[in-house]
Amino acid sequence: MSTSTARDDRAEPAVTVEDLQVHFPVRTGVLRRVTGRARAVDGVSFTVPARSIVTVVGESGSGKTTTGRALVGLSPVAAGRVLIEGRPLADLRADRSLPRLVQIVHQDPYASLNPRMTIGQMIREVVQVHRTVPRERAADRAAELLAQVGLAPALADRHPHELSGGQRQRAAIARALAVEPRFIVCDEIVSALDVSVQGQIVNLLKDLCRDSGVSFLFISHDMSVVRHIADRVVVLYGGRVMESGPCAEVFAAPRHPYTQALLAAVPVPDPRAPLPAAGTRAEPPDPASPPPGCRFQRACPYATDLCRTEPPPTTDVTTDVTGDDTGDGTHTVACHHHDEPAVRAGLGTNDVRTAQP
Ligand code: SF4
Repeated sequence: MSTSTARDDRAEPAVTVEDLQVHFPVRTGVLRRVTGRARAVDGVSFTVPARSIVTVVGESGSGKTTTGRALVGLSPVAAGRVLIEGRPLADLRADRSLPRLVQIVHQDPYASLNPRMTIGQMIREVVQVHRTVPRERAADRAAELLAQVGLAPALADRHPHELSGGQRQRAAIARALAVEPRFIVCDEIVSALDVSVQGQIVNLLKDLCRDSGVSFLFISHDMSVVRHIADRVVVLYGGRVMESGPCAEVFAAPRHPYTQALLAAVPVPDPRAPLPAAGTRAEPPDPASPPPGCRFQRACPYATDLCRTEPPPTTDVTTDVTGDDTGDGTHTVACHHHDEPAVRAGLGTNDVRTAQP
């Protein structure tokens, strides 16, 4: 795991997210009148330190993709603040400098790769539009970018459909890097790839973070991938942060029942190991009418009356589980009962309930 978080904790964060809210109108009836608002993201805060990889993890409906899209200006921010290297997102949009600073790579690389252009043409076009090098150097720069993401020069003449899935994602990453951004959102970019190819892409992002100084927000539903890439982890459920902290600490001592359930569902490659729990098996709460209290209450084996009425506060539970005093940052948990022995031990993880919203 990278220690870049510790190296750069005095630098300006790449991204600061404060109480972010993203709402979408709910339309009903024949006339599709707006009858409510869905709170897809409802008060999310976290920081992406400079030269680090932060993972936002959660199941479908957690708000992780909406959060990532908001950071690149693709989801409407209803409230809260997003700062890119200290500058408000709204200002960066207004002066049109946002695309030079932040880029996104999608799960489906076809979303960002033009099927009618070769990979080389696409990258040269981006280099020329953003004028990152003199025009006569555009072809050389495209070749450098392909080499940087591990693609052979001959692939520059191929169209996206002529590449494998892993090669297409590398090409999409090269296209994002062509802008020379400071921060890239990777939205489930390895979820459709074979495990061995996933590992190659994960290693590529870690190398890019270390060597080129780009910071990444890596969105994933898969804790087994998160373990290998993240400096810090932000666990989302129902549009809210359940737990966030240094990857080593969250994996070694998860303090939120939802994080425990996600980790318990990771397959263990040992035939003698006990069978994993089945995850939360619960539909996320309806963002148009979330329950009062804790968003995770309907799936949580520890839920009490307090959980059903009062939203849990976010509590600092930072410890130094690695014992190396690296200062990898704050560990927080949003749970009324995080300090109770049964919750700390994760005793209810195998009993996480199937629930309907
Ligand atoms: Fe939420 Fe209560 Fe469960 Fe904690 S114990 S996760 S506050 S329902």
